[in-house]
Amino acid sequence: MSLEHRNKTRLTKPNEKISCILAPNPSPMTFKGTNTYIIDNGELAVIDPGPLINEHFNNILDLVGGRQVKYIFLTHSHVDHSPLAKKLSKNLNTPIYAFGGSNSGLSSTMLSLIENGYDSGFEGIDYEFYPDQTIINNEKFSLNGEYISAIHTPGHMGNHICFQYNEILFSGDHIMGWATSMVSPPYGDLTQFMNSCRMLQKKDFKMLLPGHGDPVNNPKDRITFLINHRLERETQIKSAIENGPLTAIEITYMVYTDIEPALIIAATRNVFAHLIDLANRGKIKFLGPLSENTKVSLNL
Ligand SMILES: [Zn+2]
Repeated sequence: MSLEHRNKTRLTKPNEKISCILAPNPSPMTFKGTNTYIIDNGELAVIDPGPLINEHFNNILDLVGGRQVKYIFLTHSHVDHSPLAKKLSKNLNTPIYAFGGSNSGLSSTMLSLIENGYDSGFEGIDYEFYPDQTIINNEKFSLNGEYISAIHTPGHMGNHICFQYNEILFSGDHIMGWATSMVSPPYGDLTQFMNSCRMLQKKDFKMLLPGHGDPVNNPKDRITFLINHRLERETQIKSAIENGPLTAIEITYMVYTDIEPALIIAATRNVFAHLIDLANRGKIKFLGPLSENTKVSLNL
């Protein structure tokens, strides 16, 4: 039975050359699930194999239909995007292309946080992942006379890459329509994230195809909204410390006034991401070692 017959809602066609298969891994972090994309212009490329779930693996194989796949691309190595890559690569005899493993592309600040024992949050880093072929920024891959270009967009993760195909950008978890992107140190870096957003804001795309949720048909507006959203949060954080030094957790309780207790840890990481970014830009300083429990003050 074909994929179309088995589950109509899992397959969508953003355009005539692109299919999207929705993985069955819905959650508050992944929305309806991970989007696996297949470009078919006569040759085939897979973007983001997704989680290690048999049903999803079979759905991808159904769509490929025994044809040769030229590339398996990965936007980044979170556990909802990368674990199926290896199995798919073996089955299809296709190499995996990505920026690098989970530590690649990180700033020296974030690498030293890792060295000092500050680990990831609940976002799920795929520590096992490593590509067969590493990609560099602006590298181009030919596909039946057309090109797929890699754009390094660190921030959500240091190894995050968006893929441009004609006027479409596969935006991974960097820019999505359903939610703002999570930026959780040490693998997430807000300074990098904002730089990546501003770099993409200058480009003209017709449509974004994100790692979760529906296509984004107004890319510039969405990117501008996300940048402004972060700047508003930054203003709140700076005004919280106007009256004296505070830690990330103290700021979190001041800024997120009606947050559910379960979300406090994630919110604190977000505030910590902002504080590191503000310190990188010389706006604030940590009054001790870089940590969530160290007070920060404005740099006047
Ligand atoms: Zn992610």
